[in-house]
Amino acid sequence: MWYGVDNTIVPLLQRIIGVFMSRRRLLLQLSRTAAVLAWQQVFAPGVQAQAPKLEAWSAAGDIFTLGLASGEPRPDSVVLWTRLAPHPLQPDGGMPPRAVPVQWVVAVDAGFKQVVKSGVAVADPASAHSVHVDVTGLSPGRTYFYRFESGGQRSPIGRTRTAPAPGAQVDRLRVAVASCQNFEAGTFTVHKEIATADVDLVIFLGDYIYEVDARSYQRQRSHLHKFPSRPEHFTLADYRMHHAGYKLDADLRACHAAHPWLMVWDDHEVINDYTGADALKIPHHETFLNVRTAAYRAYFEHLPVSPSRAPIGSVMRMHERYEWGQLAEFWTVDGRQYRDKPVCPAKVGLFWNCKWVDMRERTMLGQDQEYWLAEGLAASTKAWKFIAQPTQVAPGVLGTLMGPLGYADGWDAFPAARERLMAAIAQPRVPDVICLGGDVHRHVAANLRLNPLDPASPIVASEFVTSSVTSQGLSELLNAWVKASNPDVLHMRSDERGYMLLDITPTQTRCTFRGTTHPVRADSRLRNQAVYVVDRGVPGTRKG
Ligand code: FE
Ligand code: CA
Repeated sequence: MWYGVDNTIVPLLQRIIGVFMSRRRLLLQLSRTAAVLAWQQVFAPGVQAQAPKLEAWSAAGDIFTLGLASGEPRPDSVVLWTRLAPHPLQPDGGMPPRAVPVQWVVAVDAGFKQVVKSGVAVADPASAHSVHVDVTGLSPGRTYFYRFESGGQRSPIGRTRTAPAPGAQVDRLRVAVASCQNFEAGTFTVHKEIATADVDLVIFLGDYIYEVDARSYQRQRSHLHKFPSRPEHFTLADYRMHHAGYKLDADLRACHAAHPWLMVWDDHEVINDYTGADALKIPHHETFLNVRTAAYRAYFEHLPVSPSRAPIGSVMRMHERYEWGQLAEFWTVDGRQYRDKPVCPAKVGLFWNCKWVDMRERTMLGQDQEYWLAEGLAASTKAWKFIAQPTQVAPGVLGTLMGPLGYADGWDAFPAARERLMAAIAQPRVPDVICLGGDVHRHVAANLRLNPLDPASPIVASEFVTSSVTSQGLSELLNAWVKASNPDVLHMRSDERGYMLLDITPTQTRCTFRGTTHPVRADSRLRNQAVYVVDRGVPGTRKG
């Protein structure tokens, strides 16, 4: 079975190769430093005018077209990202086929008078001239400003923040949670609002790009790069240009520049509804793995994730744990890479009366990640535990006279795995757990029971699911039908796009669902659709 191999041997190989690679990279880095120093003498910032001749690529226009970003904040570190691309919609970004040095600077002030960290990274053509710097030695709970310089050009300024010290008593944390941004389905007005909002952190729960176009009648604008019509022909160059096209959106760039992000991925970063090493749209196994390899590679190259996540072949570890003082702990969960194949596959993505979904061994997270999450939850000493995963955990079936119709791509198709997740919360009695989700293009507040299908089972956790940034949701009729079929869903609206604002204090987590009508336009205004709260020590959510 491929899954068994994926769950045990591949991560082990990855670890072994990782050790080898880091040594190799260090040697490479050392040999490059000499070249960088020589290069800097010609193109040192401020002496560009005296430089004998600008490199063709740096004279070609702005090399920071894709902006910059930060992510994975820790008490002493944060990851900084940029990618040099004077012509972002060309396969090579308009860069020469050789490594280019990029200087990075971190300061405590936006004027860069008090620089605390700086260094030189190498933008390599093998990584599409992207740069991932894991800046360490920073102070906890602090705002920083950063920027890059290369080829005599200076990037815009980014702002980021480190997590508080692990033992710190934190009064307040504010998080924006978003997902599902089909570029074609609307304007990124949600990001425009988050960019100027007073938040500490942004969590993105997947569908960062869409490899599919919006249906023509709902198209607000066109993808800047078009994939080939057949998904088996998708290449690394396609995924790179597609990511670049998304980053050419000024609101998305502004939101990255304003806050650190935590990343969770879902299916559209690769192929709609893919599961582990399989995709219904690409039946040939090896062909799909090649596409997945390209998609993961381009994903890494365009997002502020740790350089240690650089994919090896078709494997990229995304699940991770983050702390925010004593107040909160976050698990970013990968619901795609280790997931089992769909059973009883139906053309419209629904299953009905399918005994195979109940198989005990079926998994959405993979056995290793399930154990990792369960152990982490049981060991947590933080006030709040947030499971940041891609889709809705609470049942979301369509009730019919002949039994429920389920969404084949969600947790309803993995009932045994969902029970194990609930047991990991309830059996060691982990209090104050909140699941965060996306994918379903609707705002949802729900209670989670130990046995989610049994109304007599105790409530053990709460769930908030964010609507999409742009992607269209269910019709009014289907939304009402799903809501009526699932009594633990307290709030559910599919008609508005938006995001969630979480205000977290030691006594309460308050979720404000921000929403605006579909489709989102540049002048759309977001408003509060609903507020739900979870009181510390009380399982379940209530209207705020
Ligand atoms: Fe989506
Ligand atoms: Ca999805």
